[in-house]
Amino acid sequence: MHEMSLAEGVLQIMEDQAQSQNFTKVKTVWLEIGQLSHVDPDALSFCFDAVIKGSLAEGAKLEIIRTPGQAWCHDCMEQVNVSSLVDDCPKCGGHRLQVTDGDDMRVKELEVD
Ligand SMILES: [Zn+2]
Repeated sequence: MHEMSLAEGVLQIMEDQAQSQNFTKVKTVWLEIGQLSHVDPDALSFCFDAVIKGSLAEGAKLEIIRTPGQAWCHDCMEQVNVSSLVDDCPKCGGHRLQVTDGDDMRVKELEVD
């Protein structure tokens, strides 16, 4: 499952941070998931609970923040909001959009002990 490897990736990030910043327990994880990414927050949350068992983040709370999709319109020459990768520009209806944000997932913040 796609979300399972993403959850493992998040755990890996937490373990790396724990080593470099010297903490031993993660209490809360804030994850930003872009609206344009193909990540199912429910599935990810489920996988997350499974992969953190026995890790430094066991019992940690997962807070998911949905970030809106953003694209650059080459016709308007400005940043517009989009809700899918196949959207036209909401301002001019043009197709020359380049996604600039909201198509990925990242760990925003960790609350640690
Ligand atoms: Zn436009």
